[in-house]
Amino acid sequence: MAEFDIGPYVSRIEANRSIKDALMHSLKTRRPPYRISVTDLLNLKQAYFKRKYPEIVPPLEKQQLMWAGTGFHKTFGSAVSSEEYLEQFIEAEGIVGKIDIYEKIPVEVKTTSTPVDTKDLLQYRPAYIEQLGMYCAMVNAHEGEIIIYQRPVEESPSTSPLVAYHITFPNLEAIREEMRRRRDLLVQALISNDPSNLPVCPWFNRQCDYSQVCDCKTTSVPASHEIAELAGEIYVDSTTCEQLLSKMAGSQSSQLFRINDIVFPRKAYFERLKLNGEVLKEKDEYLRSMDERGFIDALRDSLRYGAPGEVQRIPVQHAPLADLVQTWQNVPTILRDPKFSSLVERERLPRTFSHYFLRLGFDCALTKHAQGRLLVYYAKVPKEDAKLMVYDVTFKNLDAIEAEALRRVELLEKASAVLQLPKCPSWMCPYCDYRLECGEA
Ligand code: SF4
Ligand code: SF4
Repeated sequence: MAEFDIGPYVSRIEANRSIKDALMHSLKTRRPPYRISVTDLLNLKQAYFKRKYPEIVPPLEKQQLMWAGTGFHKTFGSAVSSEEYLEQFIEAEGIVGKIDIYEKIPVEVKTTSTPVDTKDLLQYRPAYIEQLGMYCAMVNAHEGEIIIYQRPVEESPSTSPLVAYHITFPNLEAIREEMRRRRDLLVQALISNDPSNLPVCPWFNRQCDYSQVCDCKTTSVPASHEIAELAGEIYVDSTTCEQLLSKMAGSQSSQLFRINDIVFPRKAYFERLKLNGEVLKEKDEYLRSMDERGFIDALRDSLRYGAPGEVQRIPVQHAPLADLVQTWQNVPTILRDPKFSSLVERERLPRTFSHYFLRLGFDCALTKHAQGRLLVYYAKVPKEDAKLMVYDVTFKNLDAIEAEALRRVELLEKASAVLQLPKCPSWMCPYCDYRLECGEA
């Protein structure tokens, strides 16, 4: 079968410098938070310096690390719950917070690279308990859950990747009292320009962006965990953990195709075969891919930040293809983060990143836009100025691209053997779990 080459359909690629500069600016300068949040109450000194020195922002390299995993909540949340329960904004006592999942009880999702000692969460992760305790107090719930995803580490590859803890909080009023005390301490320090009464942060010794301006070396108030100590029962909840894992497996199956499925039809074919069989076996693999997606999700959010209304999602309905095409400033836009450590020259882009161009081409053709925008974020390129590239891509003959998209949907629907489907880019095959079945080994 002749392979479809998107290259000849790309008529122009222009690097868009002004958009790049605007995006870099919004990435670097984050607005100082104007309300007191639950996370401020976990680290009062940092909350103080964040407001007093909004010009101090972590370098992008460090932000990348901080972002890794932050989007995990969202992806994980969508797999185990539904939209109306995710990222619930709450406010009480002049304090704001956002609960990751809130159906019946608050659920906080965490990711970590350091294995957690399941026996003593209170000792090893008191801040997790404090945060959940505050959410519980704010919504008047006497119990909550903490779900921890532990990234696989070489030293202990066999540990379960997902652990759920059930925690009770018998005395919510005492938690609220402590929250008010911390809130007032912070407000007082901000008014008097004096952070000396604020306790040092629990991660005191680690690298902090405010260490040059912080008074923690001379401060006398130690870190404390009064709220964590107010927790009642804490136990590892393996039943919930199992339920979450099976919900995750269920969430993957759907009769509809996404646009990504027609970019990589062979992978979609195998994934469906796997799902049509018994329950998903590679949960660890799935969790890991969620974690990796976290970074790009966070970046996407960060790019959107400060530009409400500029992002839209346009539904594509060509049954059984159902998806949303994201437009930014009315242009279909995709953001990708290749693992390359140097930039790819403009003229080599369609060949090197043929799958990005295919995806953008499909997005454009299915929504009738001749121009799309490709944002490439090179996380491994150390030079800040070269990390993000913005390209405006013009396609020609949209009808032919759309026809190819619909041909792939039809092929996917009817395929009885994988060889009937277009191949993925060949560099992907050596890393692919299906290479044996696909005849690419
Ligand atoms: S230097 Fe230490 S105490 Fe000060 S804000 Fe940073 S982590 Fe907190
Ligand atoms: S082996 Fe290659 S062509 Fe087959 S599904 Fe994997 S990446 Fe795609």
